[in-house]
Amino acid sequence: MVYDAGRYDTIVIGAGHAGVEAGLAAARMGVKTLMLSLNLDMIAFMPCNPSIGGPAKGIVVREIDALGGEMAKTIDKSYIQMRMLNTGKGPAVQALRAQADKPVYIKEMKQVLENQENLTLRQGMVDELIVENGVCKGVITETGAAYRAETVIITTGTFMRGKVLMGDLEYESGPNNQRPSLKLSENLEKLGIELIRFKTGTPPRVNSHTIDYSKTEIQPGDDKPQGFSYETKEFIMDQIPCWLTYTNEFTHQVINDNLGLSAMYSGAKRGTGPRYCPSIEDKIVRFHDKPRHQVFLEPEGRDTEEVYVQGLSTSLPESVQHEIVRSVPGLENAEIMRPGYAIEYDSIVPTQLWPTLELKEIPGLFSAGQINGTSGYEEAAAQGIMAGINAAAKVLGKDPVILDRSQAYIGVLIDDLVTKGTKEPYRLLTSRAEYRLLLRHDNADLRLTDIGYQLGLISEERYQAFDMKKQLVEDEKKRLRKISIKPTPEVQRMLEGANATPLKEPMKAYDLLKRPELNYSSIESVIEKVENLPTDVKEQVEIQIKYEGYIKKANEQVERMLKMEDKKIPEDIDYEAISGLATEARQKLKLVQPLSVGQASRISGVNPADISILLVYIEHGRIAKLAN
Ligand SMILES: Cc1cc2nc3c(=O)[nH]c(=O)nc-3n(C[C@H](O)[C@H](O)[C@H](O)COP(=O)(O)OP(=O)(O)OC[C@H]3O[C@@H](n4cnc5c(N)ncnc54)[C@H](O)[C@@H]3O)c2cc1C
Repeated sequence: MVYDAGRYDTIVIGAGHAGVEAGLAAARMGVKTLMLSLNLDMIAFMPCNPSIGGPAKGIVVREIDALGGEMAKTIDKSYIQMRMLNTGKGPAVQALRAQADKPVYIKEMKQVLENQENLTLRQGMVDELIVENGVCKGVITETGAAYRAETVIITTGTFMRGKVLMGDLEYESGPNNQRPSLKLSENLEKLGIELIRFKTGTPPRVNSHTIDYSKTEIQPGDDKPQGFSYETKEFIMDQIPCWLTYTNEFTHQVINDNLGLSAMYSGAKRGTGPRYCPSIEDKIVRFHDKPRHQVFLEPEGRDTEEVYVQGLSTSLPESVQHEIVRSVPGLENAEIMRPGYAIEYDSIVPTQLWPTLELKEIPGLFSAGQINGTSGYEEAAAQGIMAGINAAAKVLGKDPVILDRSQAYIGVLIDDLVTKGTKEPYRLLTSRAEYRLLLRHDNADLRLTDIGYQLGLISEERYQAFDMKKQLVEDEKKRLRKISIKPTPEVQRMLEGANATPLKEPMKAYDLLKRPELNYSSIESVIEKVENLPTDVKEQVEIQIKYEGYIKKANEQVERMLKMEDKKIPEDIDYEAISGLATEARQKLKLVQPLSVGQASRISGVNPADISILLVYIEHGRIAKLAN
């Protein structure tokens, strides 16, 4: 029996990585928010690898933090190991990666949700959306509770018609044997939403007591751990290492001998898996000439003996998994606590979304996370905060927020999804971002804090600190432009110490810092110091000066891109009426309904010739309108 269970401004379905960011953003923007999820003990649960960050993903976590999101602060309170990757390379590829204490991450995030003003947290299974005259007006749970709201955000992850696969065993389930979400998928299809079947997999977990670590290589954290959040001032120094070992010929033999037993290789029609998180079966088949594959042993937390066997994701039968695990050096006597498995689930075809993550066909309904065809905690959280911001903006009558490809990896992610769509679980990579030199770990705050502050997601105190940092960076750059460094013995000694060419004539400190052998502290050692200049200010000054030329070039490219982004396409455009467009282009333009010529130019199948025709058509339309 359906009963009226109350009215909210925004309802979030799911408290995974997308759901928590969506709910917190909406509540913090002042709208009355309800968050419904299947199991309140599994909030922000990590069903797969116990880590957050890495290339591109680590930068996204910084971007979420700069916008006022929660993931960065929570992982900084719950990591067991922190490492800055690619420190030997340029700033554009440096990224933090943390090993998470999974149970502590859940505990910390649940506390934040429970103490958030304007946010109501409830356990419940949503079976149906309330849609009236094509507009989403709320949800109905399996217990008959009808909640009404102006906006609804679906963030149901890998639960939608979830099916676990392990050898020839298959059963309906969400991750970790949680209940699957069956009716909501059917309801979406009834509402005309196109779904696509994807899959992902996870490796076994083994008992740490049964691992012989002497046969593995230790992978420690950084001596001086950094934080993802700009607000983090205290760091967890007591870190736990990971361990590296490898598969071998025998492992590969076992897998080859049993390939047909793998749910993914049994020939049955299955969902599409992630190219960049392949199962061990995929790796053996695709890279059959490789004699060994890396296997990382990652503790799942401080107070658990469970170890995640990264690199052995599989859907082979449990009996075979034992053989595979015990073939790996260090795991000869390992006991599997949880077998690996694959999971198939429904996702929404993301070209059905506006860049605000609202569904084109059902106004008031937004979706975020794995349900939009992505894979990864960070990708989910990024969509969550944007969906939360835009659902709240809709309720408050404010302008939507759409980040472009030069502002954030979040902008790249969402634009790729809604403009190009995806045929497999989409994972963020640095190579996807054409302006990656501008989208760095170190400058996420400079790119996004103003936006978070204007939305009310960044506190006054934090904004003041951010403003101060910006000022200090500009002041120091100005100072270095004025300081002339003379070829004194002290300067020549510093240059010699850095294997840099001796100075023949005075040079501005600003220009000398551009030399690759030198960094801010080498320059600082021969000029008057600024007392207590914060490390992150020095880092920013160094990067902005050293990469000035590249950054300038990238900004010029951005300007050209933004010109095309500013060429808006009229909402009522009729692509059928435009003669000369290629058939495929016409179909794709009608499907994606791009907001700008720039977005149209990124649709696969829309060629430069089509863009020229479109530009002329829009220009004529504009002139005709002016004439009337
Ligand atoms: C087996 C497995 C392996 C994975 N492997 C990888 C990998 O190798 N690499 C990688 O990057 N990512 C991997 N992932 C993906 C990763 O888990 C997800 O990317 C991430 O958790 C997605 O976050 P989300 O918020 O979209 O969804 P989830 O974290 O799945 O959260 C969904 C939430 O929705 C709730 N919910 C679902 N249906 C309903 C309903 N009807 N009513 C109310 N609440 C509902 C659930 O309770 C849950 O809280 C894997 C996931 C799984 C399950």
